[in-house]
Amino acid sequence: MERFQGKVAVVTGASSGIGEAIARKLIDNDMQVVACARRAERLATLKEALGDRLHVRRADLRNEADILAVFEHAESLGGADVLVNNAGLGREAPLMTGETERWREMLEVNVLALCIATRQAVKSMQRRGVAGHVVHISSMASHRVPPNSGVYSASKYAVRSLTEGLRKELREAESPIRVTAISPGFVRTEFHHGYFGDDQRAEEAYSRFEVLTADDVASAVVYALGMPARAEVHDILLRPTAQRT
Ligand code: NDP
Repeated sequence: MERFQGKVAVVTGASSGIGEAIARKLIDNDMQVVACARRAERLATLKEALGDRLHVRRADLRNEADILAVFEHAESLGGADVLVNNAGLGREAPLMTGETERWREMLEVNVLALCIATRQAVKSMQRRGVAGHVVHISSMASHRVPPNSGVYSASKYAVRSLTEGLRKELREAESPIRVTAISPGFVRTEFHHGYFGDDQRAEEAYSRFEVLTADDVASAVVYALGMPARAEVHDILLRPTAQRT
């Protein structure tokens, strides 16, 4: 991680769960973090806890102008050397009966916003000649399809493809920028409350076996960033030990 000390990381979806844990861990590792999400009050609370090295920016990632503004903010601090595309959501919305708007929200945030943010970060890294790093928080759902999760899984299969697609473009351009996907299984966050739209079902899902913590995922991010420049961690499948599926 020494190469990123004092440098800027953009972390999307840092108002809760995995994104918040990543922001905390990157600050522990002496980075500056631009944290974005819609819930500004959550970001303000995080800033109170983490201090001056955390820069917060309210952004709805379904709105391209908001994403561009996040990267303008990062430029004002010197530019993003690390991007963690963490923001994402799942909705229980089966292919046979699901609502279009639920599918659209997953695809816009999990896929399109990730593409826009990646383009902006890579442009900045290339302009500054920086050996930066793009990390996608993908999912085990990019490797197999859980029940009623066809569209969520499709969005994460897309992230898997976008990881390899970016890797190939970067190698073609002879760029030292690295790209990593991290694919967790169950993590206790607010994710499944949104997925089921039902707190009780979410708590049941988290209590079936010992699930991962957001901090476990943040540790995987630091591992990938800290590998020597010659080693590009491509995809980490991070399963709860007790998860059967
Ligand atoms: P949370 O629901 O706790 O966090 C999701 C984050 O994404 C929040 O900060 C939320 O911020 C942000 N977000 C969602 N929609 C938008 C939007 N339109 N604009 C800006 N930010 C948005 O869930 P997790 O921490 O678990 O999820 C983080 C990532 O991890 C996601 O990509 C998810 O797919 C992935 N993942 C999660 C797993 C789990 O079991 N929890 C397993 C595998 C992968 P706000 O609402 O304030 O805008």
